[in-house]
Amino acid sequence: MAEKAEKQLFGTNGVRGIVGRDMTPDLVMRIGMALASMRKGTIAVGRDTRTSGPALCSAAKAGILACGCDVVDVGVLPTPALQYLVKHHFDAGAMITASHNPPEYNGVKIIDADGTEMGDEETIKLEQRIFSGAFEVQGWKSVGSEVYAPHLIDEYIDAIVRSFPAHVGEGMTVVVDPGSGPASHSTPTILSRMGCRVHTVNANMDGTFPGRLPEPSPEGLAPLAEMVVKTGAAFGVAHDGDADRAVFIDETGTYVEENVEFALMQRYVCRNRTGFVVTPVSTSRRVEDVCAEHGCQVAYTPVGSIYVARTMLDLAASGRTVLFGGEGNGGLIFPDHQHCRDGGMTAAAMVGLLAAEQSSLSSLAGDLPDYFMIKEKIFTGKPASVVDLVKARFSEERLDATDGIRINRDHVWALLRPSGTEPFMRLLVEARDRQLAEAMYGEITDAIGSADQA
Ligand code: MG
Repeated sequence: MAEKAEKQLFGTNGVRGIVGRDMTPDLVMRIGMALASMRKGTIAVGRDTRTSGPALCSAAKAGILACGCDVVDVGVLPTPALQYLVKHHFDAGAMITASHNPPEYNGVKIIDADGTEMGDEETIKLEQRIFSGAFEVQGWKSVGSEVYAPHLIDEYIDAIVRSFPAHVGEGMTVVVDPGSGPASHSTPTILSRMGCRVHTVNANMDGTFPGRLPEPSPEGLAPLAEMVVKTGAAFGVAHDGDADRAVFIDETGTYVEENVEFALMQRYVCRNRTGFVVTPVSTSRRVEDVCAEHGCQVAYTPVGSIYVARTMLDLAASGRTVLFGGEGNGGLIFPDHQHCRDGGMTAAAMVGLLAAEQSSLSSLAGDLPDYFMIKEKIFTGKPASVVDLVKARFSEERLDATDGIRINRDHVWALLRPSGTEPFMRLLVEARDRQLAEAMYGEITDAIGSADQA
């Protein structure tokens, strides 16, 4: 299974920072130089709709070209569209995006030749080159050349449309809120080519994000919910800032919690087949319930989509059937399409799901087992010793140390792990009812309390 390793510059999904302060053209050019010094051939470069995108994209291209790789600039597009193109045509990719972060942020996600985000081992090598300045700068005969190819996104759109029966969405009204991001054209196009009648909210690409922030929070999606109800739509779908995630509003205007979304899609994908479902240890136990219904198996990974994607590839390489994967945050992976989170594909799969089930999204969501989840931040200066203490305190129980420490009981589980990016720990507790969850939460915070006094 894919394991976590320490990186300095890059987080779980690329490097991000505030533009003009820690995210500068100089840094992005050095990332481009390092990438082109490690790879040969042609590197695709794309960006989301942020105002700083053109400046940082130009910097990435300058670094790549100077170090001898060719560049195909695929323009503004969703991260999964770039990943699809890299997998089929290119030797690597660089996506200028800060995903769900606010407008003042930008960043870079590096894509490997197989279309997945670059793994920890290679990322650490890339960082070492950036820090040491080990760049293979070329002379006039061997610098790279550049081509502009914004039309290539059509291949991604075609691939998704082809994954479903023709006209499967006929008679279905849907509303898309791409949040002024890079799927403003692609997701409405995909759904209308599947036969849906499509309405949109926030579908003008705009890096000032006038309608809502790039994180698709339930509060920011009020206009989407309103439009869903007003138009009698089967669902509303919204993306984060680079459209690798998709979240849903049901036909009554209610936000579908992302773990419920995961379980619904899982049930749809697993309905006629058996195999593995891959997800981080932070995902709701509904994933186990749905696997049990269908004779499927769960493989748990550390938190982070890259670990899910790599574990899916590893399992497939060892001859296992891998049906589905992703995280309980709207980032879902459909491996028959590609091994990365894909918001456009997820929107399309909802059309396929509702057509196959001939039922409403709210009633399908209501059919799933009920769970109560507590999510809290625990501030501590010594996360490693807190994990050790909790491990010792609960050592008689079923423990899983895939990421932090997860304690599994029959009707309740808890996960305590250091945040990947910030100076606190995350505590998740989930149970079939509130009392059970609160009792376990109390047990863990008591144990941590004694750690702080020790
Ligand atoms: Mg994203």
